[in-house]
Amino acid sequence: MKHLIVVSIDALVYEDLEYARTLPAFSEIMNRAAIIERVRTIYPSLTHPVHATLLTGAPAGVHGIVNNYAHNSLDVSSGEWYNHLSDIKCDTLLHAAKRAGLTTAASTWPLTCCGGDVIDYLVPGMMNYYFDTCGGDILSAYRDKGASDAVMPIIEEGIRRFGHLDEHPSVDEFQIFCASEIFKRYKPNLMLIHPGHVDHMRHISGVFSDEVKKAVRLTDEWLSGLISAVKEVGLWDKTDIVLLSDHGQINITRSISPNVYLAKEGLISCDDDGRITSYLAFCKSAGASAQVYLAHPDDTALKRRVYDILKSLCDEGVYGISRVFTEKEARVEFSLFGDFSFVLEGDGYTSFGEWVSPPAVKGYDLTDYRFGRATHGHLPTLGPQPTFIGRGPSFRAGKTVPTGDILNHAPTLARLLGTELFDAVGVAVDEILN
Ligand SMILES: [Zn+2]
Repeated sequence: MKHLIVVSIDALVYEDLEYARTLPAFSEIMNRAAIIERVRTIYPSLTHPVHATLLTGAPAGVHGIVNNYAHNSLDVSSGEWYNHLSDIKCDTLLHAAKRAGLTTAASTWPLTCCGGDVIDYLVPGMMNYYFDTCGGDILSAYRDKGASDAVMPIIEEGIRRFGHLDEHPSVDEFQIFCASEIFKRYKPNLMLIHPGHVDHMRHISGVFSDEVKKAVRLTDEWLSGLISAVKEVGLWDKTDIVLLSDHGQINITRSISPNVYLAKEGLISCDDDGRITSYLAFCKSAGASAQVYLAHPDDTALKRRVYDILKSLCDEGVYGISRVFTEKEARVEFSLFGDFSFVLEGDGYTSFGEWVSPPAVKGYDLTDYRFGRATHGHLPTLGPQPTFIGRGPSFRAGKTVPTGDILNHAPTLARLLGTELFDAVGVAVDEILN
């Protein structure tokens, strides 16, 4: 039987590997690995859209997760994350694994809530507000979001040991504990794990810093725990382990909210408390890019008017916008499409906000990942790039490929499991497989 463990180390980049390979667990994996050094991600380079791609091999427009947050046309300022497996419009690796008769597990992988029909051992990826809304009963929040009965005792023990699950690194320690226990008890064929501490420290301290190095070192300790769990049940030689990442980050120095300018043009109205009462155009942040929604997307006069405003902001060169993509341009160039009409790309040091009241420009804000010292969501060609490392019986040890495409990850993993994906745009990378 095959075993595949996929560890998505959020925002790990190729440049981290020089240090990582001096650490025990990374080096044990990397020394006999196939490596795709720099991987082109999708647009927008955001965690949930990319993790949907990692499961499907499809770009954002195709799998439908175009932002971390779903657009609600009735309440545009609401920020509900895409969290449920059913939000993904495409066939996923988890579905494909089940079709192949394999057992599956996921420990806090994004977009796995209520995915119990194809995830046998599920610790759902929980957001802070789920904890907030469960009246302090964290276990019932997990149950509500689909945690499997078989893993509830493991979740309970993890909470007892690691406490606050809405903070890094305890949320990472919790999920590694759960993953290790699940692997030891149930030996699933496919397991998905998503430690996010490296990403978190990049947001807080900048793209490269001592704090990020420390996060890489902590991640190595977690990988050591995972390797020990696999060895403990005698499956190390039969297990493929993949370390991959979803995006890089870029340093930013300020945030700007185009909604302030749209409101000045009468396209957004607010009450006295600054709450939006109506809108004709609304700019939704995707961190270092943004998506502009129209209340009436088929109104060509409105579309022209908003486009002209956005273009003039872009052409001025001081409003943080380097490109205004029409829906058609984003569709053709990046397979990014949805209910929005325009995509704004930042200037490389500005991220986008959604507030409506002036001032339009603010400094960084460490309480929101979109406005930290570094962020992402930018074009896939910018900044340090994510990476891919595969070690185990399926991978060609020592094979190095300088560049790759993240659309190919899911088809490659599907091939390794002896199955295939119905909706993948990418293709399996045979040169790294045995
Ligand atoms: Zn991420």
